[in-house]
Amino acid sequence: MARYTDASCRICRRENSKLFLKGDRCYSAKCSFDRRPQAPGMHGKHRGKPTSYSLMLREKQKVKRSYGLLEKQFRSLFEKAERQKGMTGGNLLVLLERRLDNIVFRLGFAGSRTQARQLVSHGHFLVNGRKVDIPSFLVKSGDRISIREKSRSAAVITGAMETVGRRGVPAWMELDKASFSGQIKDLPTRQDLPVTINEQLIVELYSK
Ligand code: SF4
Repeated sequence: MARYTDASCRICRRENSKLFLKGDRCYSAKCSFDRRPQAPGMHGKHRGKPTSYSLMLREKQKVKRSYGLLEKQFRSLFEKAERQKGMTGGNLLVLLERRLDNIVFRLGFAGSRTQARQLVSHGHFLVNGRKVDIPSFLVKSGDRISIREKSRSAAVITGAMETVGRRGVPAWMELDKASFSGQIKDLPTRQDLPVTINEQLIVELYSK
């Protein structure tokens, strides 16, 4: 499968937003976006006046890249959101949050979504006691996500768990560090998700 192999920090600079793609480094003084917030490339300092199309495109790219998805995956999630009741934009964000790789990241079992996706596909996690190795698996309310017993001492997981305090765990889930698990108390609503995303721009882009 195709995947992005260029430097992650370039994505933040391109999207003019901190997307927290590199774990602990994103919270340190080494963050490239904090040091050089202009877009990458020769003309990065001169972004120019954005057109309405470029605003829609950049918003879609920002969200898609933040969750580490490719266009095809993102588009198919959008189509799923369209088929659901309610506002498509809000539905899309909730679907993105429900992905198992995102849940592992949010619970602090991985430093970034990229790392979470790799850990999930290597089979380190259980959902309600059963191994699930599909990063796009959608969790439901009440699901319990736990780290497999033999994976609990993996340095990459213990390291991430030590730093989760910096990010905090969203109110719609509950972390139990002692049992290396977390539970989805309730599925999030749009109000529980970042206000910095303008999902309406994504809906407009795909409706063109
Ligand atoms: Fe983005 Fe993190 Fe790189 Fe900063 S360190 S630019 S937040 S990926």
